[in-house]
Amino acid sequence: MSLLGLGLWWASDLSASGPGRALAESRPVVPMPPTIMLHSRHARLLPRLIDALAAEGYEGVTFRDLEYTLCQDASLPPKAVMLTIDDLSMVRGNPSFETFRGMKDALVERGWRGVFGVITGPHLPQNEVWWDEVAVWGEQGIELATHTAYHSNLNDPALTAEDFEAEIVGSAQTICQRTGQPVHALVTPFGSGYNRTTGALHPLICAMCQQARIRFVSGIVEGHGPLPASVGDSDVIYTGRVPPGIDGTLESTLFEVHHW
Ligand SMILES: [Zn+2]
Repeated sequence: MSLLGLGLWWASDLSASGPGRALAESRPVVPMPPTIMLHSRHARLLPRLIDALAAEGYEGVTFRDLEYTLCQDASLPPKAVMLTIDDLSMVRGNPSFETFRGMKDALVERGWRGVFGVITGPHLPQNEVWWDEVAVWGEQGIELATHTAYHSNLNDPALTAEDFEAEIVGSAQTICQRTGQPVHALVTPFGSGYNRTTGALHPLICAMCQQARIRFVSGIVEGHGPLPASVGDSDVIYTGRVPPGIDGTLESTLFEVHHW
């Protein structure tokens, strides 16, 4: 986020009149932490990335932390970063589960919090032992976001309202029922569902997130600016992410964090 962006945010806030003004003036801007999109192929990068970020004073946060910050008037660590890892699934026979478990261990062993995007795959048999295992991850500072039920491209015009409900509400309910963890974020497959031209989320994504009480929708483009100064109960907030640089190396990933 640029300093210019910060200035404009404050300028527009302070020009407002009415009862919201006092709160806006007293509340510090909450910058959106740099958010990195990782997959299982980045398992070897992750421990080196955490160590390098920690050496620079960064701390890992989650969407739950953002929600708490916005709704409880709390603050984030001064150098916060969010590491999100996509495509975790407890579908039986998932060849990548052990890799994800290793990535979870890399976070927890370093006292870092992080987010896994879960594809629930309700049409496939589930590994109950893995679900029981990830239920415990929540106590270790790991948040489970929904990455939908079927990993559909949410820009697909053929999708019906029922499809959106299954993808978003259904998957969030599954995660909550199986782990006891409420779901705070939808990580959209392929960064879909966000109109870059208008800056608007697909209305059905908004509606389904409100139904599932999901606060954040995490895409890929944009969404780097500060979080809203005040939020209503049913507000859904779009946030962006960046891949780990142009080549997935430690250096290019750190570059993305520094130039968020
Ligand atoms: Zn994915």
